[in-house]
Amino acid sequence: GNAVLSGYGTTIFEVMSRLADEHGAINLGQGFPDDRGPADVLEAASRALQDGWNQYPSMMGTPELRQALAAHAARFYGLDVDWKTEVMVTSGATEALAACLFGLIEPGDEVVLFQPMYDSYLPIVRRAGGIPRFVNLRAPDWSFTEADLAAAFSAKTKLVLINDPLNPAAKVFTRDELALIASFVERYDAFAVCDEVYEHIVFDGRPHIPLMTLPGMRERCLKIGSAGKTFSLTGWKVGYITGAPRLLQPVAKAHQFLTFTTPPNLQAAVAYGLGKDASYFSGLAEGLQAKRDRLAAGIAAAGLEVLPSAGTYFVVADIRSTGFDGTDEDFCRWLTAEAGVTAIPVSAFFVQDAPTTCIRFCFSKRDEILDTAAERLRVRL
Ligand code: PMP
Ligand code: GLN
Repeated sequence: GNAVLSGYGTTIFEVMSRLADEHGAINLGQGFPDDRGPADVLEAASRALQDGWNQYPSMMGTPELRQALAAHAARFYGLDVDWKTEVMVTSGATEALAACLFGLIEPGDEVVLFQPMYDSYLPIVRRAGGIPRFVNLRAPDWSFTEADLAAAFSAKTKLVLINDPLNPAAKVFTRDELALIASFVERYDAFAVCDEVYEHIVFDGRPHIPLMTLPGMRERCLKIGSAGKTFSLTGWKVGYITGAPRLLQPVAKAHQFLTFTTPPNLQAAVAYGLGKDASYFSGLAEGLQAKRDRLAAGIAAAGLEVLPSAGTYFVVADIRSTGFDGTDEDFCRWLTAEAGVTAIPVSAFFVQDAPTTCIRFCFSKRDEILDTAAERLRVRL
């Protein structure tokens, strides 16, 4: 027939990274760290590779990594997880998200999404046949009300997809907010897919609270994590899902036909890494918190209004104070070309009712890069 060869747009991360390359700009757009990652975890990977961990591992993940994930859930969240039936390894959180949605959604099911939302959510929900229902979070604190949830949930709600800490808003949900979401999940007999890839990147002494740990939620939540974020190795694409067997089983069925397995040498290294002592995990958050403060101060000195960042790799700034005449996307293009610094327009994380004055900067970069970027902003703005 008259084939439409792609119904998908181009991800904003690719668009802005390409633009940054064209202009030789400092890329504070796409979120990834520019350090090498923990040396011992890298060594564990090379060792596993040389030791012959190079054939298809078990579809659910290597026993070693699943055991390490169950131990991690107990250690950080007091969760009692059966590694044999309640943990699955995926090729990144991206695959975990796709497996959850393809495994759980039937055409016509409604899915509640919070905007701003990570850019892979909506295309997957739609291809799974899900009907998106949106809750719009409002800057500067990205808050929502009970009425917002009431308007989004219905008898057709199958699941809610929540990202906490939230990319790009750098919001960490409070226990009260999570309890409100939990009450709707229960009332509508729904499930929650919890994208918690930034679980160890939470600042200012705040705790990370998995929705799964709230009363009534253990049987209703699938919790997603990513070694990419926890070990600053985003190219590895080792993700994982934790959840009750009745939820994980259909998701595992989808995983069979997506990637089936994930490189076993990397799984071995992640299993090792998850056992590192507490100072590793607190050090990750502390190091990134210092970078947040460094870049936030630089952005503020350049005349942008900085919004709070409670976690993730990101800080959002409001461009209105610059008097710029145009949208957030116009501003990001202009900034790349004229100042040599690339950011991501926050409107790209919305499909409707987007704010158009907010831009996202990634601060998981070497200090001298952050300082040079801040200086360029100060000179040009
Ligand atoms: N969810 C969110 C909120 C993210 O920011 C990212 C990554 N960058 C992902 C999922 C994807 O993680 P991974 O690289 O493990 O696929
Ligand atoms: N998650 C990263 C970000 O938000 C980018 C990942 C990607 O390029 N798809 O910037």
